[in-house]
Amino acid sequence: MNSVIVLNADFTYLHTVSWKRGIRLVLKGKVEVLKYGRSVANSFQNLHRIPLVVRLIKFVRRVYKNKVPLNKRNILARDEYTCQYCGAGCRHNPTLDHILPKSRGGSFSWQNTVASCKKCNQKKGDKTPTECGMTLRKKPVQPTISEFTNQQVKQMGLRELLQDLM
Ligand SMILES: [Zn+2]
Repeated sequence: MNSVIVLNADFTYLHTVSWKRGIRLVLKGKVEVLKYGRSVANSFQNLHRIPLVVRLIKFVRRVYKNKVPLNKRNILARDEYTCQYCGAGCRHNPTLDHILPKSRGGSFSWQNTVASCKKCNQKKGDKTPTECGMTLRKKPVQPTISEFTNQQVKQMGLRELLQDLM
């Protein structure tokens, strides 16, 4: 919850960070806040308004070059925190499912890993989707950087805001 969008000094989209990291960037003077969210965090012995969009003071070379880093957070984001089997939202309790189970040689990859709710993940267990009669809602693919960032921005409803800024 409460991700913070980080823009480069030239207002191009870089990535998102957790709100805690967002506040730390603000406190360290590394970023300026372009827009605050509605939430307030009580941490670091102080009350802080949680930023929604920040901009780096100093320009950095693109962190992501052409590839979106493969990690749990990004797989969940690609799948929009939606169980790829039953379609239920799993933002509060997301798990990752290996389509071909790890125990059977399945790898952690964009193509073999999807967001899944706990229920489907348990039901599926060490089987393949075919073996337990489950179907994937869409074929998992490795997103390109522009697909991924566009999707992230869209999910947060900030596309218009970002367009305004550019
Ligand atoms: Zn499910």
